[in-house]
Amino acid sequence: MGKAFIVGAGPGDPELITVKAIKCIQTADVILYDRLVNPELLKEAKHDCHLIYCGKQPNYHTMQQETINHLLVKYTKQGKNVVRLKGGDPFVFGRGAEEVEALVENGLPVVVVPGITAGVAAPAYAGIPITHRELGSSFAIVTGHKPKGKPSDINWKSLATAVDTLAIYMGVTNLPYICEELMKHGKKEDTPVAIIQQGTTMAQRTVTGTLSSIVDLVEKEGIQNPAIIIVGEVVTFRDRISLLEAGGKAESYATMA
Ligand code: SAH
Repeated sequence: MGKAFIVGAGPGDPELITVKAIKCIQTADVILYDRLVNPELLKEAKHDCHLIYCGKQPNYHTMQQETINHLLVKYTKQGKNVVRLKGGDPFVFGRGAEEVEALVENGLPVVVVPGITAGVAAPAYAGIPITHRELGSSFAIVTGHKPKGKPSDINWKSLATAVDTLAIYMGVTNLPYICEELMKHGKKEDTPVAIIQQGTTMAQRTVTGTLSSIVDLVEKEGIQNPAIIIVGEVVTFRDRISLLEAGGKAESYATMA
């Protein structure tokens, strides 16, 4: 019997991966990888490793979760070392839990390898600490995705008042709605907001503003997915260190050389 590994590949910078995850890649017989995995990491695989892309298919459909689960089970049953490689952490909006369940239901051994999640790493590379003794004592990881035509699952009212810093994933499309909800429920209009596109990669871009200004700024700058939205006073730290570190250019401090 083989073994399955549900592995976090980190947020983008290929050096932000764990030693354990690299070992999994190096010994895998089969790797099922996602769109957000840096392709550089696949160079670590054995030359005869079977690489299966699970992102958008040639007909523009993403591989169905059921198909992925089926392939994981199939190859593990065949006695292979199977790695399911995902961007960031596999349990942060990564559907890793569903894959674990499918394997366990089939009596197959499965190991989970956590990864560095984008909601912490992308702001860090942009000079924004997710917590700070004075600027933010709590943070929440939130999905900004809202199913079409349905109300959001997110309790924006509680988040707006109870949590200092929000790290919002998959929120670019719904940014106007998110800002509106937060202001409606008590976050001040001038609360700082940062959006970091392709965080920790060479293409990282950051736009900062406030809850009332960010929607226009993001549109003007053409910010797109994948991007993390950070809401909270911690965003102001970026200006502090940009003065210290890089003469007013936080980006040159924060992105890779
Ligand atoms: N499991 C992943 C998240 C998957 S959900 C993790 O732990 O990071 C996909 C969303 O993650 C994207 O829509 C975006 O909001 C965020 N994301 C992933 N990689 C990113 C990156 N390099 N920069 C900014 N956001 C990123």
